[in-house]
Amino acid sequence: MAKGSLGIGRHLIAWAVLYLAVALAPLFVVLVGDRPPHRGFWIEFGVALGFVSLAMMAMQSVLTARFSTVSTAIGQDNLLQFHRQAGIVAYALVVGHPVVLILAEWDNWAFLDPRANLLRAAALWFALVAFPVLILSSLWRQQLKLPYEWWRLGHGVVAVLLVVVGLVHITRVAYYLASPWKLGLWLLLGVASIGCVVWVRVVSPWRAGRSPYRVEGVRPLADRTWSVTLEPTSDDPSDVIRFRPGQFAFVTLAESPYSLEQHPFSIASGAETHDRLEFAVRELGDFTGRIGTVAPGTRAFVDGPYGAMTLSSDAAGLFAVAGGIGITPIASMIRTIADAGLRMPVVLVYANNTPEDIAFAAELDRLALDLGDDLVVVHVLNRPPDGWDGPTGFVTAELLTGLLPDADRDRWQYVLCGPPPMMEAAENALLDHGVPLARIDSERFDIGAAAATGRRHANVRRLVVAIGAVLLAASVVFAL
Ligand SMILES: Cc1cc2nc3c(=O)[nH]c(=O)nc-3n(C[C@H](O)[C@H](O)[C@H](O)COP(=O)(O)OP(=O)(O)OC[C@H]3O[C@@H](n4cnc5c(N)ncnc54)[C@H](O)[C@@H]3O)c2cc1C
Repeated sequence: MAKGSLGIGRHLIAWAVLYLAVALAPLFVVLVGDRPPHRGFWIEFGVALGFVSLAMMAMQSVLTARFSTVSTAIGQDNLLQFHRQAGIVAYALVVGHPVVLILAEWDNWAFLDPRANLLRAAALWFALVAFPVLILSSLWRQQLKLPYEWWRLGHGVVAVLLVVVGLVHITRVAYYLASPWKLGLWLLLGVASIGCVVWVRVVSPWRAGRSPYRVEGVRPLADRTWSVTLEPTSDDPSDVIRFRPGQFAFVTLAESPYSLEQHPFSIASGAETHDRLEFAVRELGDFTGRIGTVAPGTRAFVDGPYGAMTLSSDAAGLFAVAGGIGITPIASMIRTIADAGLRMPVVLVYANNTPEDIAFAAELDRLALDLGDDLVVVHVLNRPPDGWDGPTGFVTAELLTGLLPDADRDRWQYVLCGPPPMMEAAENALLDHGVPLARIDSERFDIGAAAATGRRHANVRRLVVAIGAVLLAASVVFAL
């Protein structure tokens, strides 16, 4: 994926431009053809805020629709970050809509007055209250201890209701939508928005259900860590999904692909292994805590592959920093390099608490022997046993600096996967030593933490804020 100095990739920039065009479209459409009389700056400004915020709300589901090609080009992490920030900006604009209209003309309060029209007021109050609940329950999901599956279901239902309420609202007010084609465009946006939810909840599971897998085996890999191997139920090896090393998939272990319990795991097998998929799963909560007891033969469904953190085979070398179970996408990359016979030097810094936590330990030793100088593995232990002579504690800038390549530093690929503080520290150390952000790829296993960390994520947040500012400015121009 080509990335500029912001490290967010031209695909994401292209997406942002498209996003802006769709969000601005309602204002342009209103200006085409017959226009009702202008009602003064503040009224028109308030109306414009309503239009652009509804368009943003409708596009929220497009961002999380898990279209594999989009996810591969832009990165699921970046899309989620965009979605999160766009939700906050859209809410600010949504609130601006009634506030500006009421301040401009007190009579507009009637829209929110149940005595004037109970159903209309209830729907609008629902939108004003449900939207912040949607945002706060997402930002504080872990602190509120909301079970992920139920939070995800509720989030989807409320989001769809908000879009429906918004569409009904503008069609009932209908000040600027007298022509059927203008109304038709809004309905198209609404259908596309809800269609994306149907895609994720109905079409994707249905597609996964057409090529089911079964659990071939579950084996211990390290302390509280299991290797889970899936094979297709058919005899056709082409039923195994093709992926790029580093990508992940959503795995369901159930009789039906429509089960709510669907978890993302990086694919640990090498991309040259075509007859099965291996995942490495560390016990963390309800689902992963039971993974060691899953019986061979259990039905499984795989939705993927997703993710943009993939091996660049044209890089001069691979510099990987893994923490704990963050080794899985990197294991896939190293296995692919070895299986495909790619002549590519690899440096792996692998941090764990104890030797018992090291996943793929024996295999990494064997690969280091096979690949010779082309694979350097440096284990870092936080709680080393007596007699350990390797690095201890956390992964530090000094440690990474000593291992960085002397030549062609700009042409290497750097991948980071592990606990967010480790990734943050490693990213800062690499940037401080002149590694361009565009050469650093990372994947966060903790969706919540992904919101707060990383230089690239900060740039994605700035991009969305800039989009919000453009929409605000466009609303002013529209009102003038
Ligand atoms: C892109 C990606 C790749 C991952 N790869 C691996 C891997 O290779 N090996 C591994 O052990 N773990 C991986 N994880 C983490 C793994 O998905 C979670 O540990 C697992 O879903 C936790 O489920 P639980 O019910 O056991 O724990 P819970 O206690 O229910 O959840 C713990 C936390 O995990 C996250 N989570 C839970 N369920 C889901 C879900 N369905 N979808 C997304 N996030 C969820 C939530 O942030 C939640 O707060 C990956 C996560 C992501 C996002």
